[in-house]
Amino acid sequence: MIELDSNTLLLVNALFGALAVGVWMLLAFPFRIARQACVMLAGAQAVMLPPLLAGPGPFQALAGICTLIALGLLSLGLRQLLRLRQQRLDLLGLLALGLFADLARLSGLPADMATGLTLMSMGGLCLLAGRDLLLGSLGLAAWLRVGLVAPYAVMSCFLMLRSIALTQPELGGGWLLEDPRRHAGLAAGWLVLAMSISAGLIALVLSRLIQRIESLTRHDPLTGLWNRRELSEQLARQQVRAQRGRSHALLMVDLDHFKRINDELGHAAGDAALRHVARLLQASLREQDCAARYGGEEFALLLPDTPLAGAQALAERLRAALASSVWSWQGRHWPLTASLGLALSAPGRLGDALVEAADRAMYQAKAQGRNRVCLAPAAEGASC
Ligand code: GH3
Ligand code: MG
Ligand code: MG
Repeated sequence: MIELDSNTLLLVNALFGALAVGVWMLLAFPFRIARQACVMLAGAQAVMLPPLLAGPGPFQALAGICTLIALGLLSLGLRQLLRLRQQRLDLLGLLALGLFADLARLSGLPADMATGLTLMSMGGLCLLAGRDLLLGSLGLAAWLRVGLVAPYAVMSCFLMLRSIALTQPELGGGWLLEDPRRHAGLAAGWLVLAMSISAGLIALVLSRLIQRIESLTRHDPLTGLWNRRELSEQLARQQVRAQRGRSHALLMVDLDHFKRINDELGHAAGDAALRHVARLLQASLREQDCAARYGGEEFALLLPDTPLAGAQALAERLRAALASSVWSWQGRHWPLTASLGLALSAPGRLGDALVEAADRAMYQAKAQGRNRVCLAPAAEGASC
């Protein structure tokens, strides 16, 4: 069996740390992924390098301060990565306590007391990081969240027990106070924890990236509504439900004389009007409804489990809300109206056939003067 001495393990730890600095900087700069968070995480790894590489000497005396700063940067980077909008007072308070205790040693505070306090504040910082991870990873599978948080929990327990062993020697636990420089087990433990924390963070960055890409492929960039591709997927899901007897409705909404906005006010005004309409539509729908931008100035609203009367009432409410909404561009008020076509699912009218029926009803509404709702009947044709 291979036996590694503690100094070799610390050197491996330092090399791994240097590699991690490189990876975070690569993600931050050429790849521009979560730049601020990645820079903070690179900083956290970098400040740990001097105490890991240095032998006894001035750098070793700064080991406590370096570790505190590293944990502070790690926590800040994590909050940034998870987009947690929290105050930083808890973090800064713990950091200040640790730094104060470490520096107070120089001005006469008993060494055990000072180191004990520093270790407590380090343990607290790890605990905060673990809690932040739990809060910020709600969308992930439970086993993954436990795996992500475990190294922080272990590190926090170790630091706090070490603090207790130092300040309360009568309780035992002397082995916890060994210098990792001379204790291969502790050095190996630190290496495993450092590697698991880095691997977890990289997995988080990647999962954030995948979520972002997935969201981009499903949303319309101008309005933030679902796009046509997502609408097709949701229609397919509703089709399966419809075959089990659950009906749904589809509303096609086409803005009236939209081209005039572009022609008279400019393309930017047209874009702003589309965003206004999107907000209005979204605000009027239930959570289970799907509002999508179907094409240029055409929107599609998929309404699951909605009977005819409910869908008609909603369509009329939307038409009236848009017609009475106030939209202006650079101080100029511009009336907005839309023509709506409504179709209800039926055994022979699902998916594309439902879209075609709603579209035909919408064109019927245009033909009859615009700013109105037309219903596609079960048979061919449409009625307003
Ligand atoms: P109708 O009442 O018959 O629907 O008339 P309309 O002017 O709304 O319809 P038409 O199809 O003639 O014009 C649609 C316009 O929508 C043309 C196109 O330039 C504009 N449009 C499509 N997509 C966008 C977009 O993303 N931004 C802006 N500003 N305009 C867009
Ligand atoms: Mg139009
Ligand atoms: Mg159109």
